Amino acid sequence: MLRQAILDEIQAYADELIAIRRDIHMHPETRFEEVRTAALVAEKLREWGLEVTEKVGVTGVVGTLQGSRPGQRAIGLRADMDALFIEEQNSFAHRSTVPGKMHACGHDGHTAMLLGAARYLAGHRDFAGTVQFIFQPAEEAATGAPAMIRDGLFERFPVDAVYGMHNSPGIPVGQFATRPGPILAGSDFWGVTFRGTGGHGGAAPHLATDATVVLGHFLLAVQTILPRNLKPIENAALSVGHVAGGAYNSPNVMPAEVVVRGTSRYFQTEAQAIIRRRLGELAETLAAAHGCTAEFTYEPLCPPTVNAPEKVPVAQAAAAALVGAAKVGEVPLSTGGEDFAFMLQEKPGVFMRIGNGVNPDGSFHNVHTPLYDFNDAALALGSAYWVSLVQEELGLGES
Ligand SMILES: [Zn+2]
Ligand SMILES: [Zn+2]
Repeated sequence: MLRQAILDEIQAYADELIAIRRDIHMHPETRFEEVRTAALVAEKLREWGLEVTEKVGVTGVVGTLQGSRPGQRAIGLRADMDALFIEEQNSFAHRSTVPGKMHACGHDGHTAMLLGAARYLAGHRDFAGTVQFIFQPAEEAATGAPAMIRDGLFERFPVDAVYGMHNSPGIPVGQFATRPGPILAGSDFWGVTFRGTGGHGGAAPHLATDATVVLGHFLLAVQTILPRNLKPIENAALSVGHVAGGAYNSPNVMPAEVVVRGTSRYFQTEAQAIIRRRLGELAETLAAAHGCTAEFTYEPLCPPTVNAPEKVPVAQAAAAALVGAAKVGEVPLSTGGEDFAFMLQEKPGVFMRIGNGVNPDGSFHNVHTPLYDFNDAALALGSAYWVSLVQEELGLGES
């Protein structure tokens, strides 16, 4: 059955959610500096009667709400609070007041949507178990979720499942989308320093070992890893973003050291392992073949975001109960990353996408661009999705 009554009740206070969202938009705070935003969140949660714990993972906030019916199960609902280092180009009244910072990913909307759900559920506690409202910092740095987890998030606030949601420009308002299994990519950095003797490249190249020759072979060999080491049906990206060596004003000097750095994106941890192993093997063997050495480093940044297959129907049902099953679609794999992935490594759950709108001509301002804005028309629906999810998971009364 449709849960229109939930949406209607939240719509009645949508103006308050819009005011909160715009207030946060005007005061963007970046990674681990979400002090004002966290205080606003804590204040609202307390006002509505939730138990509030602040400074979980530096600036994270957790609101705890017990249902009035007996039950041991608990779920976590997660929103992110941080902004980006982007200069906003919008001219509307609620544009950023902080030079060089803006809510260009809609985390202002995510925070307001989860607050809207907290307000509703505080007034409708007829569910069995506990809801943990998780407001995390520093998503854009992919360090906020790990910080909360390291600070004991899931020990101090145990949950059986955890859910996240992100707005999607290009998907119409009123629609949802997700997919089972991987939905967003894992993303890592890697680097190699090749060392030779260096020397006089003009007069005595025969007396030197040349790291630049190794670099040349390596740059091409890197591009064999995906087509020749991964399964043909597997998706991944492997790119070089930085090469450096020698001095511009000394083209006659063979550098003793050259550096290459790049990134890898993948959807399976097996693919990550293969990429990592092959990068190291190629670096070392090619260096050895030319009398040089290689120092290889690999920095895992953020794992792939992987939805638990058994929880996807739960999330889809929660969305379908609001908009109908026809408006709950399946998103294609995206090579974007999301640090909610760290929470999904700990607990089963689903990352849901909610439509942020699309212009009649198909255009839209994407996230991470200076003309983006979260669409206030999606706020009440997003809050209602969270409530509907609690109904699915903890059996909130239909009344
Ligand atoms: Zn973002
Ligand atoms: Zn985001």
